Amino acid sequence: MAKKKAARRSRTAGPGRAGHKHVYFFGGGKADGNRNMKDLLGGKGSGLAEMTNAGLPVPPGFTISTEVCNIYYEQDRKIPANIDKEIAENLKKLEKSAGATLGSNDNPLLVSVRSGAKFSMPGMMDTILNLGLNDESVEGLKRRTQNGRFSFDSYRRFIQMFGNVVLEIPKEAFEHEFEEVKRARGVKLDTDLDENALREVVERYKKVVQSRTGKAFPQAPGAQLTMARDAVFRSWMNPRAQEYRRIYDIPDHIGTAVNVQMMVFGNTGDRSATGVGFTRNPATGKKEFYGEFLINAQGEDVVAGIRTPQPIRELEQVMPKAYKQLREITTRLERHYRDVQDFEFTIQDERLFMLQTRSGKRTGYAAVIIATDLVAEKLVSPKDAVLLVDPESLSQLLAPIFDTAEWKKIPAATRGLPASPGAASGQVVFTADDAVEWANRGKPVVLVRRETVPDDIHGMFVAQGILTATGGMTSHAAVVGRQMGKPSVVGAGELEIDEKNHVFRVSGQTVKEGDFISFDGLSGEVKIAQVASKPSEILQVLNKTLDAKKSDIFQRFEKLLSWADKFRRLGIRANADLPDQAELAYAFGARGIGLCRTEHMFFGEGRIPIVQRMILATTEVDRRKALDELLPMQRDDFYGVFKAMHGSPVTIRTIDPPLHEFLPKREELMVEIARLEATGKQGRELEEKRKLLARVEQLHEFNPMLGHRGVRLGITYPEITEMQTRAIIEAACRLNKEGLKIVPEIMIPLVGHVKELKDQKTVVDRVAEETMKAQGIKIKYLVGTMIEVPRGAMTADQIAEVAEFFSFGTNDLTQLTFGFSRDDVGKFLRIYQEKKILDKDPFASFDADGVGPVVRTAVQLGRKTRPGLKLGVCGEHGGDPASIHFFEKVGLDYVSASPYRIPVARLAAAQAALSVKVGD
Ligand code: PEP
Ligand code: MG
Repeated sequence: MAKKKAARRSRTAGPGRAGHKHVYFFGGGKADGNRNMKDLLGGKGSGLAEMTNAGLPVPPGFTISTEVCNIYYEQDRKIPANIDKEIAENLKKLEKSAGATLGSNDNPLLVSVRSGAKFSMPGMMDTILNLGLNDESVEGLKRRTQNGRFSFDSYRRFIQMFGNVVLEIPKEAFEHEFEEVKRARGVKLDTDLDENALREVVERYKKVVQSRTGKAFPQAPGAQLTMARDAVFRSWMNPRAQEYRRIYDIPDHIGTAVNVQMMVFGNTGDRSATGVGFTRNPATGKKEFYGEFLINAQGEDVVAGIRTPQPIRELEQVMPKAYKQLREITTRLERHYRDVQDFEFTIQDERLFMLQTRSGKRTGYAAVIIATDLVAEKLVSPKDAVLLVDPESLSQLLAPIFDTAEWKKIPAATRGLPASPGAASGQVVFTADDAVEWANRGKPVVLVRRETVPDDIHGMFVAQGILTATGGMTSHAAVVGRQMGKPSVVGAGELEIDEKNHVFRVSGQTVKEGDFISFDGLSGEVKIAQVASKPSEILQVLNKTLDAKKSDIFQRFEKLLSWADKFRRLGIRANADLPDQAELAYAFGARGIGLCRTEHMFFGEGRIPIVQRMILATTEVDRRKALDELLPMQRDDFYGVFKAMHGSPVTIRTIDPPLHEFLPKREELMVEIARLEATGKQGRELEEKRKLLARVEQLHEFNPMLGHRGVRLGITYPEITEMQTRAIIEAACRLNKEGLKIVPEIMIPLVGHVKELKDQKTVVDRVAEETMKAQGIKIKYLVGTMIEVPRGAMTADQIAEVAEFFSFGTNDLTQLTFGFSRDDVGKFLRIYQEKKILDKDPFASFDADGVGPVVRTAVQLGRKTRPGLKLGVCGEHGGDPASIHFFEKVGLDYVSASPYRIPVARLAAAQAALSVKVGD
């Protein structure tokens, strides 16, 4: 009964229905929303609400919730009348609070209409400022402000922005008219245009609108607002916003909110300004007030990178009172949110207004510095600090840096602002599309732009680094570069870039497309040369070429990860095949090997001929001869790997790939034979090649991934399993005799039927027994299996009768559950993503919806048979933060990742443990 009632209530009161709240007001010290409502109000909306509630000077306004964005798309890009009514009511309230009326002739209210999703997407969506101006209200504004120049400048900006964003007229159409007026009047700077000139610009702009759309510029403020609101919702689906979401794994369905807020003006004259800033340096993490501002300018001028703004410290000289207040407020905000804040402000006639606050995006480097500083300052606990750092960003700290000696040898050609740290060296390209094309051809590229615009995102993504001629530390290139962890230098004003002819000139040199340049994102220096880089500080310490005590960042990195280790439940192991990889993984904090792919050892120096002899053998006797040669080599490898793990568990997998992978390619052999025949060469070489080709033909498979590989090899050639077992047990016996207790875990791949495993376990147990006897020592070892074939997962209860541990091979499990070939998926995956059939690449980020239940079933069935069954994952997903959340939830014991992903996995495992409960 109660259930029925609840269902009825939700039908009548859900999003879109009358009675459900869709619009949230803020103003006069009180807001409907708060900081915890990011899902509904977006980051900007919830920040504005929170600041209003805290009594900060925020211009009043209202937020149309993200639910309305979804309704807009569900209802064929229309907003239902009841929501329109709610917006109208809030507009009335806003007019009352502002003491001005939208469209009024004598006291007009002007508003901004801005997007704001839960996650910030800098520059990706649209904004409209100065809305409410028309031919009459502009005169009203002039009367109120006694400033005709300002009023008409605001009007022309509005028509331009509205024309571009809402009416989709290219910016150039307006810029052309603007330049014409400037030229006719013989002025250089925008600010040199007087009221009359700007009146003329307005008239010309209106004509552009008329001719491009066939309609006059809309004069009714109500219509302007509706059209602007819909344009912001539309911008949620523009290609660059979609691309951004794809890169950052932001789901499409969360939608954007729309914030309608009373305008305040940073462009009323020299007593006004606008700016953005951070409470700490987002590139280096340093505790310093950081940002920039422009006098007599409007919001977007600062971030657009058109004018290079002044550092925020200089505001202290120009407007000391407002500066002091800004410092006080932002310090308060940092304490309140207990994290670095990224804020926007406007000063109108020396009066400060806060327009936004949110957690500041930062580089991986800065994230570690800030998190450890905030703990030292007692602003946050170690647990909070662990949650403050994006695990993925830690990999930036492992990126290479320039060799200082090499770097110093080359003179700097110029210097720009150091926007995002890291060493970048590559070939110059001038457009984002070229960057992608060159990168696809395997070239390292540096994207050089006059200024980057949000549309460049795909090129920035593939570039080694981004260099721009204009813009400040908060320009688009800087913000996005930092977030991507791409080295970036911006505002290198001496660069004369000729984008059309694909060259730039600097300090007397001409640099063409394809020439090498290098720059340092930490110092801002740019050099025209290719400069070799060297390992990051962290790696230098781990390689013992730098003393840990001399590296501040290493110490902080260690500290943060040691906190993470306290909170994580999942064990962290590494996928490593060779002793040096194992050592690095151990140094990074892995405590165990989750997967040692033994076949990789076959590719070691001088081994391939022996492996080929083993494969070419036509009798078991000959095969054993080759295997006997391999045995000592494998044993020494295993010895090294065990030793590097200092007694932590090591899982060694028996041979997996199909044998043809160790032989030359069929086509190459055919060409070789034809060549030898054509040159009349007979004899041994030709004979051997023909023999090889015959075996290659025999081993040829139509679908090798589903072919003769994994356990199937061990079953057909048990002598391979025998040799590998002997090598493992001999290495372990030797170490045990030396005093290092090793419990090897022997893992059989690609098992789909319990009898496959039984077959191999019999071989392993027999050989282990013989070997131990011969060695005169008894050691403990485990035999387990990979779960990577769906049948294996669905019969995990039977398999667990034999297996002493499971390790999920999510690469093959994904392949076999989807039926997507791991090697061929690239041909269509991109189209699947574009068509929204798949959000993410399931081979990179685990598909919890489809492959998830297969893993979950295997976990449950396996543990039903063997309650203490050890469970891990060794597919690529073991190093992916989102996937790690799933493995935490499903209750695995450990994840195994490649050595460089170990720090990421440690932190992600801690975050997963802090935010999910096993069994959720
Ligand atoms: C897997 O399939 O997930 C796995 C780890 O094995 P491989 O990638 O070697 O097939
Ligand atoms: Mg596999």
